[in-house]
Amino acid sequence: MGEIRDPQPLRWVGEYSGQPVERCFQCHKCSGGCPVAGTMDILPHQIIRCLHLGLEEELLGSRAIWLCTSCRTCKARCPNGIDIAAVNDALRARVLARGLRPALPAVADFHRQFLASVEKNGRVHELGMMVAYKLKIRNYLQDVPLGIKMLARGKFRLLPERIRGQKEIRTLFTKARGEQR
Ligand code: SF4
Ligand code: SF4
Repeated sequence: MGEIRDPQPLRWVGEYSGQPVERCFQCHKCSGGCPVAGTMDILPHQIIRCLHLGLEEELLGSRAIWLCTSCRTCKARCPNGIDIAAVNDALRARVLARGLRPALPAVADFHRQFLASVEKNGRVHELGMMVAYKLKIRNYLQDVPLGIKMLARGKFRLLPERIRGQKEIRTLFTKARGEQR
């Protein structure tokens, strides 16, 4: 991880995520509190270090960016307020925009279906999203009993909710796609 390749990734990730990644001084507090650090191939502080060193391929090919649960413990612990979940979101978007193979394809499919549902409905429609996800990964029956229970308890809406500002949300998605290129 000592070789500096191209500082460009630092620029686009910082701009796209809105995070002051250049302020990181490698104190490791983010990794010390991350609940899924034990499963990551690149720890949260190393993600920022990779950005500094321009190691874009390592970042875009890593499992860690898909394992991040967006719990934001890292942000709460960081003396510089760096939100590594936002950085990971930017890196995921970069993987998808460049048509690269995600390190964890099932998580990437879930991510895509979640965003597609938000873009279409203005907020996520859980039932529609889960059906689309299951069709995509061809796993049709595994969670059916749980889905039926959740439907019975009113946890899933049969139809998507209408929200105000749906058009504006679609415009945001279109703008974000343009900025990823
Ligand atoms: S937001 Fe992601 S990187 Fe940060 S602590 Fe949570 S799981 Fe770890
Ligand atoms: S806690 Fe913040 S400053 Fe410390 S290593 Fe993590 S991102 Fe860098």
